[in-house]
Amino acid sequence: MINIKSFIITSVLLFCFGTQAQIIDKKMSSGFRVAPARKIDVVIIHSVFNNSGGEFYDIDLIIKQFARYGVSSHYLIGRGGEIYRLVNEKNIAYHAGKSSLPDGRTAVNRCSIGIELVCSFTEPITEQQMESVVKLTKEIQARYKINYILRHSDIASGRKTDPWNFDWDSYLSKLKP
Ligand SMILES: [Zn+2]
Repeated sequence: MINIKSFIITSVLLFCFGTQAQIIDKKMSSGFRVAPARKIDVVIIHSVFNNSGGEFYDIDLIIKQFARYGVSSHYLIGRGGEIYRLVNEKNIAYHAGKSSLPDGRTAVNRCSIGIELVCSFTEPITEQQMESVVKLTKEIQARYKINYILRHSDIASGRKTDPWNFDWDSYLSKLKP
């Protein structure tokens, strides 16, 4: 029997918030630290490709590359917009490296969620990736009080140039309600 009440509630929620981002778990066993009580108020956007031989955009090869470098991110967004979760948000992922926030904080990994977009130096990110990163960021904003949404290059200027070929203004404008 269909529960009319829950059907109506679900319909209203879907109407108000749209469908939730589909997350595919591909949990890493390294490159992060368990930190159940951490406070999250920052989102950092990166880009990455496999530069270790083989397919540029191969998700598993990119994850292996992270493992070799001892790094990770919470999310990795494939060329088709697929969102992979590599590390739980409550844990500290090693994605920012030596960096600092506009307010002077330097332990950026501790307070941030890292999102990596699969991309090369020359090809732009895809429309599906933009759609997914916007949806994911909005969901993160709904879960935490986010004070900063920044590019890796914003917090590690002179050292990092990512995200590459990413229309930052368009992304920020899409985050507006
Ligand atoms: Zn980066």
